[in-house]
Amino acid sequence: MKPLWGIDMGGTKIEGVILRSKDNPEVRTRLRVPTEKEGGYDHIIGQIGKLVDRMRQDSGLQPEIIGMGHPGALDPQTQTMKNSNTTVVNGMPFKRDLEAALHLPFVLANDANCFAVAEANMGAVKTHMPEARMVFGVIMGTGVGGGLVIDGKVWNGRQGIGGEWGHSYLDDSGGVCYCGKTGCVETLLCGPATERYYAGISGVRRPLPEIVELYDAGDPAAIQTP
Ligand SMILES: [Zn+2]
Repeated sequence: MKPLWGIDMGGTKIEGVILRSKDNPEVRTRLRVPTEKEGGYDHIIGQIGKLVDRMRQDSGLQPEIIGMGHPGALDPQTQTMKNSNTTVVNGMPFKRDLEAALHLPFVLANDANCFAVAEANMGAVKTHMPEARMVFGVIMGTGVGGGLVIDGKVWNGRQGIGGEWGHSYLDDSGGVCYCGKTGCVETLLCGPATERYYAGISGVRRPLPEIVELYDAGDPAAIQTP
């Protein structure tokens, strides 16, 4: 069995993993690089190239194909990216440009769908509720994602964004979203939104892990932060 190469692209970091094989999914290599999305589209592709080179050096292996989870969706009609919170990739033929830059075939999939299908078929759902036929997986990080799995398979929907709930309306207090609408779930429920909320109450900006620690320690501002 061949080793499997996978990459998880996030808004803050890009992580790569090589598993020994499908039947023996033991981690052989796990490395990460910063996304540095402020550097722009070509820089992100360069960071992915840098990560793959490091994975090659670390493992002594060559990939034949790479599977990559990412925020947003590759539009099934135009083959360009949409709905990514790493907004510089939106509207771009990300798969084509990656394949051209790295001289490798890529399979792209929404990161929340990857997570949801993994939990449904191999993880928490399989362990705790194997009879469940419909699974909604929720991701909360730099942004908010979701994946819908029905009978073990991802439900992508007609637009390729089935299960996405980040830009559904929740409450105006979140303000204007990068998508142009107001009150999106993602303006209220994600790491940066929680940090903003905490800063609004306490007057001090702190990273999310510190806010969680303060919450555990009984800090009143952290307790008020949703
Ligand atoms: Zn939005």
